[in-house]
Amino acid sequence: MTSKPAPETGRPIVFRGGTVLTMDDARTVLPDADVLVVGTDVAAVGPHLEVPEGTVEVDASGGIVMPGMIDTHRHLWQTAMRGYGADWTLTQYFVWNYLSYGKLFRPQDIYAGNLVGALEAIDAGVTTTVDWSHNLQTTDHAEAAVDAMQATPGRFVLAYGNIQAGPWEWSTRPELADFVNRRIPRDEMFGFQLAFDVTGDPAFPEKAAYEAARELGAKVTTHAGVWGATNDDGIRLAYENGFMTEGNIYVHAATLSTDSYQRIAGTGGFASVAAESESSCGQGYPSSWSIRKHGIPISLSNDTSVWWSGDGFSAMRATLNADRAREHHEAHATGDTVTNISLRCEDVVGWATRGGADALGLGSVVGSLEPGRRADVVLIRNEDSPVMFPLLNPYGHVVMQAQRGDVQAVLVNGKVAKWDHKLVGVDLGAARAAVGETVEYLRGQLGEEEWVKGMNPEIPESKVLDNPYTYTDYASADTHKSKE
Ligand SMILES: [Zn+2]
Repeated sequence: MTSKPAPETGRPIVFRGGTVLTMDDARTVLPDADVLVVGTDVAAVGPHLEVPEGTVEVDASGGIVMPGMIDTHRHLWQTAMRGYGADWTLTQYFVWNYLSYGKLFRPQDIYAGNLVGALEAIDAGVTTTVDWSHNLQTTDHAEAAVDAMQATPGRFVLAYGNIQAGPWEWSTRPELADFVNRRIPRDEMFGFQLAFDVTGDPAFPEKAAYEAARELGAKVTTHAGVWGATNDDGIRLAYENGFMTEGNIYVHAATLSTDSYQRIAGTGGFASVAAESESSCGQGYPSSWSIRKHGIPISLSNDTSVWWSGDGFSAMRATLNADRAREHHEAHATGDTVTNISLRCEDVVGWATRGGADALGLGSVVGSLEPGRRADVVLIRNEDSPVMFPLLNPYGHVVMQAQRGDVQAVLVNGKVAKWDHKLVGVDLGAARAAVGETVEYLRGQLGEEEWVKGMNPEIPESKVLDNPYTYTDYASADTHKSKE
């Protein structure tokens, strides 16, 4: 395939003859339809559109046109350590990042990880990413995080955090407010949240951080319902102190009681389900199966590339698989058979697009392809792939068949970010060099033995804990019976 140059900016673009997943309220799917982008916006969606003179014509036949995907929780800085912790548990992650080596990260290391992570997201059609940036030890680190994202053609939210100090410490430093005012536009392209976790300490020291968020007018995003780390006490304390306010995001929300779920639902909270993470890490069973029963709106996330994938296809697939596995498993435990699965592919595509937009207060801006919405558009089409035909079930194709390599074009706010399967206006070599320097530096700091040990956690010879992952509502399930 010869590479076609990306069109000059400013020209309208029309995607012709694709299967369009509009993700509007009615979830309208239009076969053989066009999407016209003029300026920053979707101007029209429908068959055989008339277009302004000079419009760039893109053949979308045989492909799928959908809204850009939205990731509501990603630790971009950790992308510099891509795949390093692939065999970690959550405990090993905490030890490496929180207790041992996270503090070694310099501003340039945050920059390197953020840059490659942000590029990775755009490449996969993830047009909006919340950078859950919890190693901002100084505002210089935060400057670096923002620099990297602003060098990338995407829509971002900086969720400001710092695991190297208590939330009550870093959130109240005067330089934080100064930094936010100076560097964060807080518009449709670049938003701001405060990111910290609530441990359940009865003294509720996180109160000061919630107050700081209120002062800054920022929503709070928090890892909630993480087995062994954050639990119902954190939710209860935030609730009783009046801090569970509309638009806060509860990441994972896996190991929580009905009370907590009702508090999240009742206060206008959103969930960020990171099913790939929850499946291998130990926060609790991927939560969509539990929380959708409580009417909590769901968005999806990829968490961190230190273990997992950084693309929406993987997030959708992992979520769907985990949810369906649970549905079958629960039924089997009572002798039943699921004959109609309740979670559909179109639901998870909705979570990956509209769900993310709603969670970020961008529901009227992005997340669907409708006239007047900003043009965050993804074209899934690959002439060289045997997996692109036949295209029979478009939602099913997106969730179960498509991959990042099938993303032919990405627009963000009407601008071309990926064209003909290649990122546009991006110096990948510079990103590779920056990450290379970070890896070399960290490897030098750790020493070869520690470096290798960190990547290859030992399997204990004898059982350390007797199944720490016990779910009370699984008590009757066969998996547990067989161990007794
Ligand atoms: Zn996380």
